[in-house]
Amino acid sequence: MRLVAVSKTFAGGAVREAAQAGLRDFGENYVTEGVEKIRELRGLGLIWHYVGPIQSNKTRLIAEHFDWVHSIDREKIAARLSQARGAEQTELQVCIQVNVSGESSKGGAAPEGIVSLARKVAGLPRMKLRGLMAIPEPTSDERLQRRRFAELRALRDELNRDGLALDTLSMGMSADMEAAIAEGATMVRVGTAIFGERTS
Ligand SMILES: *Cc1c(COP(=O)(O)O)cnc(C)c1O
Repeated sequence: MRLVAVSKTFAGGAVREAAQAGLRDFGENYVTEGVEKIRELRGLGLIWHYVGPIQSNKTRLIAEHFDWVHSIDREKIAARLSQARGAEQTELQVCIQVNVSGESSKGGAAPEGIVSLARKVAGLPRMKLRGLMAIPEPTSDERLQRRRFAELRALRDELNRDGLALDTLSMGMSADMEAAIAEGATMVRVGTAIFGERTS
């Protein structure tokens, strides 16, 4: 189980402290803010995860600076990231974000299109499809939390039966990580429970 510390809105100093306490994986969901921190903290050997919405005009910055991208939800974005990843860099590690709760406002690909999207992403050069990510609707109903995470796991299993070899389920945040872990999360993305409440 891997803990990704989501440091969005917190300054580089907070990341540095968390790194001194032993954390290695950090998540950001605003591109320019994330890239600034990556540049500032270069040399600490940190692993950077982009977990936010992806606009076409930001794919180059993301591909050049981040190690992981969790939030791919369409082929066009995946293709642009693949193209922008340097040949001298290691493969970009990616997950497809799935909209498991069907909210129209939420990012993520519809579950129905996942098999076809995953095949396409898995075929792109300079990136490696590792698994699936989801941000279900906020709820304190633990049974509903578990149902959503179980749905994501079932989709991952379906893709693996289809011939892929996905080892990653990026699911669970401060408020629902216990449910996610119970359903097989391999990465949890935790902000508030590590850094405290965000003010902005
Ligand atoms: C902010 C954020 C998190 C962390 O949320 P917390 O509730 O603060 O733990 C996790 N994943 C994504 C995609 C985020 O944007």
